[in-house]
Amino acid sequence: MVASSGIMSSYLNCITLSTGHCRRTPRSEVHDETLALLVPWLNRAVETGNVEPLPVPALSHFGARAIKDIGLVVTIYGPLGPHMTGHPHSGKWLPLSTLGIAQRSRESADLWVSMLAHFGGKPGITAPGAPWAAVAIHATLGGYPDALQWLTDFERCLAWAWISRHRAAAPNRCRRCGYPDGDDWLDGGETCPHCRLVQ
Ligand SMILES: [Zn+2]
Repeated sequence: MVASSGIMSSYLNCITLSTGHCRRTPRSEVHDETLALLVPWLNRAVETGNVEPLPVPALSHFGARAIKDIGLVVTIYGPLGPHMTGHPHSGKWLPLSTLGIAQRSRESADLWVSMLAHFGGKPGITAPGAPWAAVAIHATLGGYPDALQWLTDFERCLAWAWISRHRAAAPNRCRRCGYPDGDDWLDGGETCPHCRLVQ
């Protein structure tokens, strides 16, 4: 299945690499206010490349680092050593989970291979149709049992935030030359293949 790149999908496939469990989550599962909180936070996290405190006050002693390469890869961290609940942590971190997000079909194959190469997965597992979010759970998550209560939901909201942010940045036509959106767009769909304007 190949999602059309010009139309925002109303579903996101969330797959867990270790089990192969895949769930289609509709956009309606994520509140607009949640996206309004997460989109600017995610943009900032991509810019800084640092582990940023999660933008939820009660969870701000947890953090996440977002790296935009092929799609987006976000690792969520728990504080290691002394820390205060609800206060940004400045010490060391342990990774809880890593989320790879492919919005478009053209990002899917490379990101999928990269995620499996780094984190492994259930034998024979195949990528769902884009857009998808693939979750790798790290063994260190076992030391943060309270995170199990919110992590899956947070990952899903993050994935929707990225997709929403990406759609906002990429118009259906090039802003300069009017070239239509399609699978020939460059840099994950942000650069016009005709005039090379980064949208
Ligand atoms: Zn153009």
